[in-house]
Amino acid sequence: MFFDSLLKNQKNIVKLIDQSIKNNRLFHAYIFDGEDKVSIEKAYLYFASKLLCEQEYAPCEVCANCDRVLNNAHTNVIRIQPEKDVIRKEQIAQIIHELSMTSVETGAKIYIIEDAEKLNKAAANALLKLLEEPYPNHYIILTTQNASRIIDTIASRCELIHFIPINKYAIETSLLQAGVDKDFAYVLSNISNSVEEANKYIEEGNVIDIYEFVQSLYRSMNLGKDLLIDYALKGKVLFKEENLHPIFFNIMLLFIKEKIKYLSNLKRNKKNDSSIHFVEYFSNLKKDYEIKDLIHVLDVINKYDERLYARVNMELLYVSLFTEL
Ligand SMILES: [Zn+2]
Repeated sequence: MFFDSLLKNQKNIVKLIDQSIKNNRLFHAYIFDGEDKVSIEKAYLYFASKLLCEQEYAPCEVCANCDRVLNNAHTNVIRIQPEKDVIRKEQIAQIIHELSMTSVETGAKIYIIEDAEKLNKAAANALLKLLEEPYPNHYIILTTQNASRIIDTIASRCELIHFIPINKYAIETSLLQAGVDKDFAYVLSNISNSVEEANKYIEEGNVIDIYEFVQSLYRSMNLGKDLLIDYALKGKVLFKEENLHPIFFNIMLLFIKEKIKYLSNLKRNKKNDSSIHFVEYFSNLKKDYEIKDLIHVLDVINKYDERLYARVNMELLYVSLFTEL
């Protein structure tokens, strides 16, 4: 059944929703926070179908209302997603409009704002007004992978719910069993929220392109910065989709963290540590190579990773990043 994996992976969340509904103690606004995007989506659909289901044992998953909720066709469930990576005031106005209308349908209304850290300032202000004057039987659920990015004035008016992090090790093991290369399985397990998502990345091919791009960056690192910058700009691989930028940063960070591990092993004369990845790119490192330089690089990449969310020109950001490395 649709909610099986949610019941298995996020038992406590389901229990919380069930009990809050049973005891009539729902909040008007929630933040669903966590990396497990698949479970978060299922959880808000669970919340909505539980409230709208026609059966006593809800959600039954088969009545007309459940069916419409699960197929994104119920008019009482309104989902707002970032457009070009930002949520604008006009999108929040859609909620305000719905609130002012007398509903054709009976029952609760559920508004879902996905990736709520992407609300721009005007949208956040409009939302804030809604949160300050809640309507009975109307619920707002914000989702995010990082609740600390949601502005305090909004976060403080919502009930914050943390989802259990995904077990990356389980994803990696499953990919290895399917015959995926050791280093690539490690990369995929770090950027995916489920085995299904990892397999989707393999099929689409964009992540493999980025992984190979990072590998060529590593090969060229010793050849000087000009080449590096050139690589970054010609590397159209990064510009195929918006969501590839954070994946690129993530893979860069993985490489540097492994390099630090490799180097500290080298200094302790510990060899053949099979838990370290991408070893072939580090094997010409000398013992006197400084770990503190790598920690500096780590800081630089983290700093740029933060700036990703500030809607900058990506091409300029990459030029500036590679100049600073
Ligand atoms: Zn139902």
